[in-house]
Amino acid sequence: MQFMKVAEILSSPQGAKVRTRGWVYRRRDLGGKVFVVVRDSTGIVQFVFGPDSPGYKDAARVTVESSVIAGGTVKDDPRAPGGKEVVGEEFRIVGLAENFPIRRDVSKEFLLDVRHLAVRSRRMTAVLKIRDTVFSAVHEYFRSNGYYEVQAPMFISAAVEGGATLFPVKYVDGSTVYLTQSSQFYLEALIYSLEKVYTIAPSFRAEKSRTRRHLTEFWHAEAEVAWAGLEDILRVEEELISFVVERVLERNREELALLNRNLEPLKNVVPPFPRISYDKAIELLQSKGLQVRWGDDLGADEERALTEFFDKPFFLYGFPEQVKAFYHKNDPSRPEVTLSADLLAPEGYGEIIGGGERIDKAEELVEKIKRFGLNPDDYKWYIDLRRYGTVPHAGFGLGMDRLVMWIAGLDHIVDAVAFPRTVARTYP
Ligand code: ATP
Ligand code: MG
Repeated sequence: MQFMKVAEILSSPQGAKVRTRGWVYRRRDLGGKVFVVVRDSTGIVQFVFGPDSPGYKDAARVTVESSVIAGGTVKDDPRAPGGKEVVGEEFRIVGLAENFPIRRDVSKEFLLDVRHLAVRSRRMTAVLKIRDTVFSAVHEYFRSNGYYEVQAPMFISAAVEGGATLFPVKYVDGSTVYLTQSSQFYLEALIYSLEKVYTIAPSFRAEKSRTRRHLTEFWHAEAEVAWAGLEDILRVEEELISFVVERVLERNREELALLNRNLEPLKNVVPPFPRISYDKAIELLQSKGLQVRWGDDLGADEERALTEFFDKPFFLYGFPEQVKAFYHKNDPSRPEVTLSADLLAPEGYGEIIGGGERIDKAEELVEKIKRFGLNPDDYKWYIDLRRYGTVPHAGFGLGMDRLVMWIAGLDHIVDAVAFPRTVARTYP
């Protein structure tokens, strides 16, 4: 008999003969019977073996997380997970597991040490399924809106986002290169032929502070659009985020329920998103008693305070020149601020996207690079892009792990990734 998925078993009628393969989620011995809950990629189902059932001997000795083949007859049972139980008629151990180290009382730190095993948990499985939807929805959005998917190099020779978070790597010829912080500059080079481009790739940042929302290696979805301004790119961002959330609500109801995610804030995620200027944000924060002054960068605490004013994602626009990277175009009508905007997720989460209009004049770019204390020679090819048929253009970078963190309602970004890389962790 063919193998079925657990989900198929759970939708089979009473009396159906079923057979599956998976891993032992739980085993209980009760009143002379053995209850074995088997897990596969689709869910969990309970098998019950009495002393006379074929397979009883193996069922009675099987350990948690052993891989097994199990079969029997479906019986409705409201007490069993999923409302069905399988009266066991076959049970075979494929790989007997040693004593599984993960138990209820282990610490968070220990769970991260054994992440290669902890990824099997139902919680982690639910997050990874949501993550899968998020990635596929981002691709789907861009592909159905006329973007080309491109790939940029990971080894680079100059900073995109400031030198403080660069990871140096010793290159083959003995020189020092860096792991990329963003693919943006390469995307900008590609708009001159493809016009609308995007990529989903890792970015690396040596973030020294331990926060709930910083990884040292994160997945970055970036887009760059020729002939676009700030207004155009904000519309793309709100459409993209709304589309992704809609897809997750369509496909991952079960996973969201398992994570106890409140769906109401997600159902609110429809365009247009509200906007607040940096100036107004500073006033609001000051009125709430926070110690911020115009010109300060806003950190997680300030962002969290701002999210209390909104029940959906919102744009924070018009940042002062000094808090944004050099490539941001200054507002011609107000040169001390940039044509930039961050998108902040509600419910305390904060920044998930940074974006805006890019400088499109060579002289303006060179001048700003110098004003930022950087060396124009390090950005030769990037400046070149403005010398051969420059166009106004805009783009953004979306932190995929932060997006998953917010949509799944997680407390910490490490929970949004299978194998997180942080200041403190590169294992397993
Ligand atoms: P933050 O101020 O939170 O460090 P940033 O301003 O450095 O963010 P950008 O350079 O604008 O971020 O990067 C674009 C997006 O990439 C951010 O909005 C965020 O979602 C994501 N991102 C940036 N740094 C990290 C990181 N260390 N870990 C995870 N995601 C990140
Ligand atoms: Mg940062």
